[in-house]
Amino acid sequence: MKKIIIKLMLVSFTLLAITSCSSDSDTTNTNPVDPKAGNQRPLGASANDFLSDIAYNSITLEIGYIDGYRPTQSAINNLLQMLSNRTKKPDGISIIETPVPATNVGTLSIDEVRQIEDDNRTIFNEDDDLAVWVFFADNNSNEDSGNTAKLGTAYRNTSCVIYEKTIQDITQQFTGPSRATMEATTMLHEFGHLFGLVDLGTEMVDDHEDTENSGHCTEEDCLMYFQTVANISSMVDLNSIPDFGEFCLADLRANGGK
Ligand SMILES: [Zn+2]
Ligand SMILES: [Zn+2]
Repeated sequence: MKKIIIKLMLVSFTLLAITSCSSDSDTTNTNPVDPKAGNQRPLGASANDFLSDIAYNSITLEIGYIDGYRPTQSAINNLLQMLSNRTKKPDGISIIETPVPATNVGTLSIDEVRQIEDDNRTIFNEDDDLAVWVFFADNNSNEDSGNTAKLGTAYRNTSCVIYEKTIQDITQQFTGPSRATMEATTMLHEFGHLFGLVDLGTEMVDDHEDTENSGHCTEEDCLMYFQTVANISSMVDLNSIPDFGEFCLADLRANGGK
């Protein structure tokens, strides 16, 4: 009887040892890596991750916004359409909306925008799902001057800010593009930068970078032309959302997009 008990104890000890061993190895594989590290890389570092289906088969779009500054549904739908037109994501694109507290800081520096992301972002890359954070701000950029208002900035590999207050102010003051058109144009332009345009992580097939405005396209009717989202008077003339021109499209396709 005693022998049997000892044997049983030995068996259970062995099982325990095996169990803890395998969980040890799991711990070694996942714990030292910061789960947010994949989303804290420089702008353009995830260009291929967005465009191709090599590492990621789906995208989760997290929209962070302050009460009163949620983008129009029509602008969100335009972004979803562009993502499905240009990226290979067989498992689709999903959206999560995250409320963000009011900033109360006056104009926003890009460091403050980073801090808001660090305090509020909830979705990060997981398995084959690529996470992206788009923040709709209740204040203007601190880089605005004269006739030049910043409408958006892509500042990390999977992060961008849209200065929604600026967009609402402009579309209320001027007769010109609708708020939805301006929101969509700005979002699509910033996603162009996340896709690595121009020469920001996606190589150029043919040379078409604007030498005076790095990261932008020389084609004037291209979504990635600098003036598209930089100058109030050029925005006022905007009748519809521009598309990527042929040079930018060639770059996207050469880096795994469609
Ligand atoms: Zn730009
Ligand atoms: Zn272009």
